Amino acid sequence: MRSLLTLILLVSVSIVPARAAAEAPLARRPEVQAALAYLKAEEPRTLEEQIRICEIPAPPFEEARRAEYFRQKFVAAGLRDVRIDAEGNVIGVRPGRTLSPTLVFSAHLDTVFPAGTDTTVKREGTWLKAPGIADDCRGLAVMLAVLGALNEKALATEGTVVFVGTVGEEGLGDLRGVRHLFEKEMKGKITHFISLDGSGLRVVSGAVGSHRYRVTFRAPGGHSYGMFGLVNPIHALGRAIEKISRLEVPETPKTTFNVGRIEGGTSVNSIAQSASFEIDLRSPDAEALAQVDAAFRAAVAAAVQEENQFWEKRTRSGPARLTNRSNPVTVEIKQVGLRPTGRVADDAPILQAVRRANAALGIEARFEASSTDANVPISLGIPAVTLPGGGESTGNHALQEQFDTTDSHLGTQRALLALLEIAGLRTQP
Ligand SMILES: [Zn+2]
Repeated sequence: MRSLLTLILLVSVSIVPARAAAEAPLARRPEVQAALAYLKAEEPRTLEEQIRICEIPAPPFEEARRAEYFRQKFVAAGLRDVRIDAEGNVIGVRPGRTLSPTLVFSAHLDTVFPAGTDTTVKREGTWLKAPGIADDCRGLAVMLAVLGALNEKALATEGTVVFVGTVGEEGLGDLRGVRHLFEKEMKGKITHFISLDGSGLRVVSGAVGSHRYRVTFRAPGGHSYGMFGLVNPIHALGRAIEKISRLEVPETPKTTFNVGRIEGGTSVNSIAQSASFEIDLRSPDAEALAQVDAAFRAAVAAAVQEENQFWEKRTRSGPARLTNRSNPVTVEIKQVGLRPTGRVADDAPILQAVRRANAALGIEARFEASSTDANVPISLGIPAVTLPGGGESTGNHALQEQFDTTDSHLGTQRALLALLEIAGLRTQP
C-alpha cells in the first residue's frame, strides 16, 4: 500500500514537479521533517517537563496551581490572549492566517487523586512512577513540547490553534472544563478539537457516554420491633439493586451498569428513614444508553411499588398501617453525572488527518471509544479526537501509576503531525 503510494507520488513528481511539491505529504516537507527530528531529540526534555508537571498537585476541583504554571508557560511561549477562564481552564492562542479552522489542542489538568497525595516522581530504568504521571501529565507535556517545536522551527499554520489545559475531566468533574469551553468561553468558535490524554498510540474516535445517579429511598422510619410493619427504605433499595443486577444489556455496543456505592440506615434496631445508592450506566451508543437508563428507572419504580404493596397486604392494623398509608416509601433519582455519547464517522476528515499522521510514523493504531474531554465536541457534532501521548502505562487512576518512556517520542511527533494536518501548514512566502 505504502510503496504503491510512493510510486504514484514519484510519477506525479516527474510529470508536474512544481505542483507535486506543493502536494507532497505534509510529513515529508523539510520544515516538518526538521520539527519531527527536533521533537525526537527533545524527548528527554519533554520527559523532564512531564515530571515537573506531575509534581504540581492537581486534585479534582483544585487545579489552580497547575493552571498557573501553564499560564506562565503559555506567556513565555508567546501565545496571545493568555488567560484562565471562569471555570479554571488555561487558554492561549497561536493565531493562524484565518479563524477557520480553529483547532483546540488540549490536555486535562486534573488528576483523580485527593489533596495530600505524594506525586513525587521516581525513575526506574525506562519507567517514571507517580500518581498521574501518564493521565494526564503525559498529555500536558506533549502539548507543551509541540508548542515548543512549532516555535523553534517557526512553523506557521493556516488556521488558528488554541492551546488549552482543561479542568474537571475526571470523575465528578464531569467534563466541566471542556463544557464551559464549548458552551461559554469559546462558544461557536471551535471547529476542531484534539485532546491529548494518557499514554499509548491508539486513537479515540468514539465517546462512551455515561449517566450517573444517586437514588435515595425515604420513609418515616421507626423502632424495629415496636413499629414492625412499616415500609423500609433499605428493603426497597435491596429490591431495586436485585432487579438492576439482572438487567440485560448488549455486549456490542458494550453497555454496562454498576451500583458503586450504597449508604443508609440509622441503627440495627431502627427501620431506616433513608437509604441511597449510586449507579453508573455507560455505552458508546446513545440508544443503548437510553435503553439501560429506562430499564434502571423501571427497576427502581417497581421496587418501590413492591415494597409498599408488600406491607399494605401484611399490615392489617395498628400505627404502622396508618403511617404506611400516609407515608409510603418514596424515591428521588438525582443525576450526579452526564457524559454525552457519540462517534466520529470513520471517513471524517479529522480521522483521515490522524491516519495520515499515523502512516507517516508507521503507527498502526486501533480506533476505540472511551470517555474523555472529546465526548463534549463529539456529541455536538464538532470533529474531535483523543490522541494518547505515546509510551505506555499501567495503573492509571491508582497510586502505583507508571509510565514507560520507550519510544515515547512517537506520541509527541504524532500530536504535531495531527495538529499540522488539521490546522494546515502555511507555506512561507
Ligand atoms: Zn485522562
